[in-house]
Amino acid sequence: MKFPTLTSLAALLALAVASAQPRDQAVAALIDDLVTANHILASEGILDGYGHVSVRDPANPKHYFLSRSLAPGLVTAADIIEYDLDSNPAAGDDRTGYRERFIHGEIYKARPDVMAVVHDHSPAVIPFSVSSVPLRAVSHMAAFIGEGIPVFEIRDVDGMTDMLVSNPKRGRALATVLAKFPAALMRGHGAAVVGESVKVAVGRAIYLDLNARVQEQAMLLGGTVKYFEPEEARKTAPQDGFERAWDVWKRKAAK
Ligand code: MN
Repeated sequence: MKFPTLTSLAALLALAVASAQPRDQAVAALIDDLVTANHILASEGILDGYGHVSVRDPANPKHYFLSRSLAPGLVTAADIIEYDLDSNPAAGDDRTGYRERFIHGEIYKARPDVMAVVHDHSPAVIPFSVSSVPLRAVSHMAAFIGEGIPVFEIRDVDGMTDMLVSNPKRGRALATVLAKFPAALMRGHGAAVVGESVKVAVGRAIYLDLNARVQEQAMLLGGTVKYFEPEEARKTAPQDGFERAWDVWKRKAAK
């Protein structure tokens, strides 16, 4: 017989605590964090009137939560819609959804590890989506991009379009380009950023934007730019899941 390790006992305990929490309380906490994520991303200038953030339901991983079509800074718990992974809303919910919700549904389908998705139009990352210069890790807070960031070219999927990932086919193609990476740039449009929690997805979206600005500044200096080596990135990337930053971003967003 195998004896349980301390780690597996801790995992069992966490599971017991989680299952002791009533379902409606768990959903309310999840939606509360999602509303906060909307406000943080607006307050940090990552989302403006457009873009969106979603969370997968851990108790029902074939569903996710996303606001109705609304500017992220204005989102409240009452605006959140529950979607299945085909991005159809729960029965009876006829409120207008974001046209690009397929970004979320198709990524959740392709990436069981992903629990939250941010889609933004960060002006700092767009240059790297249209230039031959790749976005690479230069800031230690963005070491998660140490293995590079793919660029999604919507022309490869549907030729001349309105640039919107507004159907399942385009969403699937984006998820394929994203593959195992923490983010994908979308040419001439923005980015899709993922994480194992809503805090990680939000933190990554913020530091992806910061890294893009820092890299551009470094390149403008005109010398040779030193990027993170993959090994440095691997050693740097595991941080605290942005827990400490989340609290201060949340307070700032609430002001
Ligand atoms: Mn968009």
